[in-house]
Amino acid sequence: MRQRILTGDRPTGPLHIGHLVGSLRNRVALQHEYDTFVLLADVQALTDNFEHPRKVRENVLEVALDYLAVGLDPNVTTFVIQSQIPEIAELTMFYLNLVTVSHLRQNPTVKAEIAQKGYGESVPAGFFVYPVSQAADITAFGAHLVPVGDDQLPMIEQTVEIVRRFNRLYAPVLVEPRALLGEVARLPGLDGKAKMSKSLGNAVFLSDSPDEVARKVRGMYTDPQHLRVEDAGRVEGNPVFAYLDAFDPDRERVAALKAQYQRGGLGDVKVKRHLLEVLEAVLAPIRARRSEAAQSMDQVERVLYEGTTRGREVAVQTMTAARRAMHLDYFGTQPTDPTTTRRDASGSSG
Ligand code: ATP
Ligand code: MG
Repeated sequence: MRQRILTGDRPTGPLHIGHLVGSLRNRVALQHEYDTFVLLADVQALTDNFEHPRKVRENVLEVALDYLAVGLDPNVTTFVIQSQIPEIAELTMFYLNLVTVSHLRQNPTVKAEIAQKGYGESVPAGFFVYPVSQAADITAFGAHLVPVGDDQLPMIEQTVEIVRRFNRLYAPVLVEPRALLGEVARLPGLDGKAKMSKSLGNAVFLSDSPDEVARKVRGMYTDPQHLRVEDAGRVEGNPVFAYLDAFDPDRERVAALKAQYQRGGLGDVKVKRHLLEVLEAVLAPIRARRSEAAQSMDQVERVLYEGTTRGREVAVQTMTAARRAMHLDYFGTQPTDPTTTRRDASGSSG
């Protein structure tokens, strides 16, 4: 049997160029080698967007279009909508017993996000425990490999701890995953902040129009001390150069531009104009495939339906094994059998 990949995205907005280098390119490259599942993590998105369910719903379709646009092939990659897999919620409930509140409090990513969102002590409990639900996502699909940006490393560590604990306490049924970092583990934002994020307003989206990209690049943060063309400038902490490092295939040219910028004599306007060309070369084909896919939204919805159905079958298998391991298999495997659920949903007495 082929090894599996599980990774996903929160449908809090369309995907951006940080996703491309952090995770999407690895998924596309590995989709023929691994049995790949991508999760549209709408339940996780609701943990900090519970007042905006419409936004989450709409962005599920945006993210699905982004997947198709970057070349995830629904014939080999399974697209799964998280909220339609109750087994993930069920596993989360059991895993919550295996972690402590103090351990969760130390998760560096969650800590940073709580500060960034200004939650303080009023952090919603669902948000606070999302690393546990992420462990359920990964293990429900029996994933061996998780392609992610480095902000997700604490989540994978947390998952490994839960897996080991579960397997030791009950029975060895869960697969221990490992992270696969992207070519750029964390792309900075347009504002120079450490991370480009959908929710920070500092992103170039894969779906941005050429005008929008040009506007964003023109307004990008650079070295604030670099006032005149002839001044020496800094490339460290300068997102213009971070993006050139990430996207310009001509390494020698990037090295020469950096040297000139550091020496003085290369203006921001000029280097940004070059960056824009580099980004357009990356984005133009993605944009074209996206608008083609958007022509047939019924097809996109079918991909989501079929993927979610297949994903559910895999999650049910994991849940069945987990229930057996925890001595909760009272009536055999029936309670979480999707065919049972389907019969119930149609209201027929069977
Ligand atoms: P949000 O602000 O809603 O959390 P996000 O931009 O952080 O959105 P996620 O859906 O949380 O995006 O992350 C999806 C995947 O993309 C994860 O694997 C994450 O590590 C990766 N990722 C997100 N932002 C970046 C980035 N700036 N650089 C590299 N990888 C990233
Ligand atoms: Mg995030």
